[in-house]
Amino acid sequence: MKKGLASLPKTHLHLHFTGAMRPETMRALALEQGTRLPAHLLEQDPLTVPADARGWFRFQRSYDAARTLVRSETVMRRIVREAAEDDAAEGSVRLEMQVDPTSYAPWVGGLTPALEIILDEAKEASKATGVEVAVIVAASRTRHPLDARTLARLAAQYAGDGPGEVVGFGLSNDERVGETSEFSAAFRIAKQAGLAAVPHGGELLGPDSIRQVVGHLGPKRLGHGVRVSEDPVLLQRLVEEDIAFEVCPTSNVSLGVYPSRSDVPLRTLLDSGATIALGADDPLLFHSRLVDQYQIAKNDHGFTTQELAVLARGSIDASLASESKKRLWRAGVEEWLAKQ
Ligand SMILES: [Zn+2]
Repeated sequence: MKKGLASLPKTHLHLHFTGAMRPETMRALALEQGTRLPAHLLEQDPLTVPADARGWFRFQRSYDAARTLVRSETVMRRIVREAAEDDAAEGSVRLEMQVDPTSYAPWVGGLTPALEIILDEAKEASKATGVEVAVIVAASRTRHPLDARTLARLAAQYAGDGPGEVVGFGLSNDERVGETSEFSAAFRIAKQAGLAAVPHGGELLGPDSIRQVVGHLGPKRLGHGVRVSEDPVLLQRLVEEDIAFEVCPTSNVSLGVYPSRSDVPLRTLLDSGATIALGADDPLLFHSRLVDQYQIAKNDHGFTTQELAVLARGSIDASLASESKKRLWRAGVEEWLAKQ
C-alpha cells in the first residue's frame, strides 16, 4: 500500500534512459565489467555543479561514464525494467522515457535494434508493473542536425500513444550548443508521423533560447522551460499556446540553474496557469526521484494538497497518453484528494 505522495496518481515525463539507472545497478555493472568509475559517481552525495561550461562538462562526463556500462541488450532491458518498477512504487501511472539510441547502437547491431530493444522492454515492463512505459526519441544538440533527421525517421516508424511505442521527439544535451533552427527539419519529420515535439529549452539559457525553441521546433512541452519566468509576457504566451513545462527542481539545483530548491519558479509557473509535469531528469546523478520533486513542491514551496493535485493533474494532461487513460487517471487524483 503506497503512502502519502506516492499514492497520488501522476505521470513521469522527464526521465533520461541512462540517468534512470539505479545507483546499485551502476555499481554492480561496474564490478561485473571490471570498470573503474570516477570517484564522484561512487560517492553518496548527489552531483552538484555550477551552471557554466565547466559544470556542464563535469555533468556530461559523469553521464558518459555511466553510459559506458550500457553495452548489451540485457543491461538495456534492465534499465527500462527497473525504471518502471521504481516509477510504479512512486505512484506513476505513465512513464515517457527519453532515449538517444545512438550511444547504444554499436553494442546491439545498430540504431534500429537499439530502439526496438527499448520499445520491447517498455511493453513488457508495462505489463509487469502496470505503469504505461512509452518512449521519446531524443536527438542531441551536440551532433549534426542530419543525425537528428535520421533519428526522427527511425522514431516515426514506431509512432503511437501506448506502451512500447514512440510518442514524442526530443532534443537534449547542452542548450548552448548548436543552432536550434537547424533541427527544425528533424522535428518536421517527427510531427508528420504524429509525434509530439518535446525538446529541452529554457534551462541553461533564458527567454531568447525559449523563443528559438518555440519558433523553430513547435513544442507541445518544454523540457525544463523554467527560465521562462524571467519574461512574464512570454510565459503568458506559452500558457495560452498550451505548451506544458517538464519541471525538474532537483536537476535545476544540481546543475546550478538555481541556488536552492525554493528558487525554482514553481509558484510563478503555477500562478500563471501553466501546465506543469514534475520530473526527476537523471536520478542516478542527482539522487532524487519523482516523489521527491512533489515533496519539494510541498516542503520548499508550501504547495497545499489541492495544489499538489493540480500538479498531478497537470502531469496527466501533459502526457501523450490516450484520452480514455487520462480520464481514468484524473479520477484517481480526485479519489486521492477525497482521502486527504
Ligand atoms: Zn533532461
